[in-house]
Amino acid sequence: MQMSNPVEKKPHAVLIPYPVQGHINPLFGLAKLLHLRGFHITFVHTEYNYKRLLNSRGLKAFDGSPDFHFETIPDGLPLTDEVVNVTQDLVPLSKSVRENFLLPFRELLARLHDSAIAGHIPPVTCLVSDYSLTFTTQAAQELALPILLFSPASASSLLSILQMRILSDRGLIPLKDESYLDTKLDRIPAMKNFRPNDFIRTADPNNFIVKSIIDMADSVLKAPATVINTYEELETEALKALSSMLPSVYPIGPFPSFLNQSPQNHLESLASNLWKEDTECLEWLKSKEPNSVVYVNFGSITVMSPEQLLEFAWGLANSKRPFLWIIRPDLVSGGSVIFSSEFVNEISDRGLIASWCPQEQVLNHPSIGGFLTHCGWNSTIESICAGVSMVCWPFFADQSRNCRNICNEWGIGIEIDTDVKRKEVEKHVNELMVGEKGKKMRQKVMQLKQKAEEDTRSSGLSYMNLDKMISEILLKQN
Ligand code: UDP
Repeated sequence: MQMSNPVEKKPHAVLIPYPVQGHINPLFGLAKLLHLRGFHITFVHTEYNYKRLLNSRGLKAFDGSPDFHFETIPDGLPLTDEVVNVTQDLVPLSKSVRENFLLPFRELLARLHDSAIAGHIPPVTCLVSDYSLTFTTQAAQELALPILLFSPASASSLLSILQMRILSDRGLIPLKDESYLDTKLDRIPAMKNFRPNDFIRTADPNNFIVKSIIDMADSVLKAPATVINTYEELETEALKALSSMLPSVYPIGPFPSFLNQSPQNHLESLASNLWKEDTECLEWLKSKEPNSVVYVNFGSITVMSPEQLLEFAWGLANSKRPFLWIIRPDLVSGGSVIFSSEFVNEISDRGLIASWCPQEQVLNHPSIGGFLTHCGWNSTIESICAGVSMVCWPFFADQSRNCRNICNEWGIGIEIDTDVKRKEVEKHVNELMVGEKGKKMRQKVMQLKQKAEEDTRSSGLSYMNLDKMISEILLKQN
């Protein structure tokens, strides 16, 4: 994976994501942005994810430009020969990352250093690390390298993470009992209606996720700079609050708008989707009327019960709207999905089910009129950039926080109750697609899309923030 071309004196960024889809994709977007600004890029995958990418896309997934190269480190979990097309179990993965990543990461940085001395690559200028990889700050310190922490979540979610440390210092976390999960904590700046429940679903003081979030907060609070895939016009208040707590905050998103405006043909084959994409759904969409199709996708981690799946299925069927539904092989707990012939006959060619799709292309297809989503931050941002309003069914982590912003702050979505019922799905989907509220939501999301485009154009706020961030990096290089 080493390059042998003569090396220009380029700045060199090493980017390392937390190794799951929703963290890899946005950091990959940032890698492309930096590459378009003249950086040499090293992007670090786990060996397991590298194999998955090879499996789904072949070698062309890594073949874009000699200045954009890939390295791998082991994730520390037992290796299997077979590449399994499912999301790795998050708790063992997170534990392994914490315990096992630092050593191979250090070794990788040493290899890059040797390679730079030998003149094969430019010396490393900076590290850009996912905010949950708390050990990278230590590696950066050891080598006196500047480090930027990247938040794949929204500014308000990052603020919630920092608040967890403050709540913990005030003795409010660990929560006394489960009843405190839903308590509104109104006195927190820029965090109207914040509830611990937005981030943790447990009052257990020994819960691994709670501990990890507080560690993450500490790491971000100490980091010299934090980069977020958001924009000023969308999260003004939260960004203001973050700026008062952190040394440097760079909102430089949304990446989809940024990248859509940049010519990047030479990077087109580079891929970060771990699943094989079904591109036939794009052909199917061509056969549908403009703005008529509901796109349904719950991201890479959500798991639902067979009963919940049936409620969604019949709600969609009864709405009588055309729909494209992505059902990952591991979306439903306890096994594979088999629909009754009654359901299959009912939807006939009105519904298409696929296992994974090129989501940004789908959202930007003229036939798409609405998105039934789990409110992952990438899905939220990609939907806004495509001007598509949403029906929301958040599952975990930052998704309820995103849902609250989508529905209450920005007015571009309608929430479905956790205990999903087919009648509610049918009603909300119809409201989204043809109702009065749906019309208003569409107008609002189009305004937000426009603002995103303005912010990422030259002289826009995100554009200038990116310029500023790069100047800071280069200053430290010289
Ligand atoms: N994605 C995709 N095709 C799919 C499902 C998801 O390309 O069929 C991408 C999507 O565009 C987004 C990422 O996977 O970039 C999912 O991230 P998100 O934060 O929305 O949710 P998560 O998977 O982390 O829950």
